[in-house]
Amino acid sequence: MGDISFEAKVLHTTFEKQDAYNALSMPVYNCAAYEFESAEAMEAAFCGRTMDYAYSRITNPTVQYFENRVRAVTEAMSVTALNSGMAAITHVLMTLGRAGANIVTSPHLFGNTVSLLKNTLSAFGLEVRFCNLTNMSEVLANVDHNTCAIFLEVITNPQLEVADLKALATIATECHIPLIADTTVVPFSVFRGQDFGINIEIISSTKYISGGATSLGGLILDHGTFDYSHSITLKKWYEEFGNKAFTARMRKEIHRNLGAYMTPQVAYMQTLGLETMQIRFERMASTCLELAGRLQTLDGIVSVNYTGLKDNPYYKLSTAQFGAYPSAMLTFDLSSREACFAFMNRLKLIRRATNLFDNKTLAIHPASTIFGTFTEEERQEMGISQQTIRLSVGLEAGDDLFNDIMQALF
Ligand SMILES: *Cc1c(COP(=O)(O)O)cnc(C)c1O
Repeated sequence: MGDISFEAKVLHTTFEKQDAYNALSMPVYNCAAYEFESAEAMEAAFCGRTMDYAYSRITNPTVQYFENRVRAVTEAMSVTALNSGMAAITHVLMTLGRAGANIVTSPHLFGNTVSLLKNTLSAFGLEVRFCNLTNMSEVLANVDHNTCAIFLEVITNPQLEVADLKALATIATECHIPLIADTTVVPFSVFRGQDFGINIEIISSTKYISGGATSLGGLILDHGTFDYSHSITLKKWYEEFGNKAFTARMRKEIHRNLGAYMTPQVAYMQTLGLETMQIRFERMASTCLELAGRLQTLDGIVSVNYTGLKDNPYYKLSTAQFGAYPSAMLTFDLSSREACFAFMNRLKLIRRATNLFDNKTLAIHPASTIFGTFTEEERQEMGISQQTIRLSVGLEAGDDLFNDIMQALF
């Protein structure tokens, strides 16, 4: 298939093998194990000399089909599907890291990611250095020869901070450090991470891809663009696998040992979701931009944060990197925590729930929920305010959402 649209390509990726019954959609192969004709065939599969399936913790036809579809539309070198976004982040950092190494990142991260770094991985000797990733001299001051990754979220959730990806990629390349980005909030139908120097992308496919929040999932996209010849952790893998060193260690070691591969039922649902992702995104993101502008005019709202608004401090950078519709998530500030709780309690149409990019519009007060177990001091370091409401905009008409917000404010 040559020059066709994202929407067409994502629908028409063919199976690796013809289905025995000519099924038009990929069947769900709900099996743990696969049978072999002979001991020799079994040996060949287990030793990696053939691509035959051996066990569904390692590969499964339905999951692999989902991975192949993502690979076809993203042009990533390799794609791995796991059973949550958190599993994907864990796999990437455990593949690159080791005791004594450090990760340079921002304190403006998804709450569980902060906890994974600060509480879980640091207990294994991986140091975490939080700094301001929008300030390149701070980044340079924090990296050293033990830095195994610069890790960021392309639009931070819920602060909506945007770092200059090309500037970070320049530092990363010069210092021989892979640039790792969680790109969950901007779908790959409108943003190609490899064009901005990102070496590995992590996506929570629970969000845009699943299509109506049907299931949890995580994706790792390796663009195969990093030179691991200087990497202490991956040197051995580099010598055998070259630019596939990361994927080789991740798939052959970490992935097998952690056992968090996506399950076939979930891959089936997420493949269906993927087919309509761009159509849903267009609708959600254009409603989000329109709504952000309308909310700015309301008296009860102190401020509106959406990087697609012309008066947003990140507008130029955000538009250059992500286009006119940077995600379907916005935040706004009310006068106090009490005003936020009263607003949340008066909502009639918009649902009180966590999660992002469901078909339904969702509202949450991040300080008391996702960040509720951090101390007030930690929340301040992370840029989490008691006055902020986060909105994930769904498929309803803009007027329905505006009217519900209006009635909940007054
Ligand atoms: C939701 C989310 C995650 C975690 O993904 P799960 O699928 O819930 O494990 C990580 N990063 C970002 C930016 C997210 O929004």
